[in-house]
Amino acid sequence: MNILYKIGESVAPNLYVHSVCDIDFVKLKEEGIEGIVLDLDNTILPWKEYDVPPSSLEWVNKGKSLGIKFFILSNTIHTKRLAHISKTLGCDYIHPAFKPQKRNYLKAAKKLNILPKNMACVGDQLFTDIKGGNKAGFYTILVDQIDQKEFKGTKISRFFEKIIKKYIKNIDLIL
Ligand SMILES: [Mg+2]
Repeated sequence: MNILYKIGESVAPNLYVHSVCDIDFVKLKEEGIEGIVLDLDNTILPWKEYDVPPSSLEWVNKGKSLGIKFFILSNTIHTKRLAHISKTLGCDYIHPAFKPQKRNYLKAAKKLNILPKNMACVGDQLFTDIKGGNKAGFYTILVDQIDQKEFKGTKISRFFEKIIKKYIKNIDLIL
């Protein structure tokens, strides 16, 4: 059982909210956060879609107006789509991201000229978005997936997420 708690610890987010729109930039800034690494699929927009929902776009723009910098880290292999969304959101990206490796989280922080401890990441998956962010020393924020439609491999990952959530300490506080 110890190993399961260890895995739980490695994927435990610092914060859980329903959607990106519930993230309070003012509170984040009080925590010292200056930049946010964003996941795309099912965090900012539904899987495979090109158009960013107005709510996500407004949220990003609000953050920018408060001085928060954004960066996209997505494991998607569709470069054209990624480039289109990056243009819409007006922020840079690294492709492919190879999450949960921490390498590109740190690279993103460097590109934004922000220390990892002053970075946050937002994503809908524990084993990629949150695990990678934790490894990189970021403040990690889990959101609910926007839509049920997703990559087959992700569906398998969801099954293990359900199991491991039981082994995250203080689960009642964050999940
Ligand atoms: Mg995702």
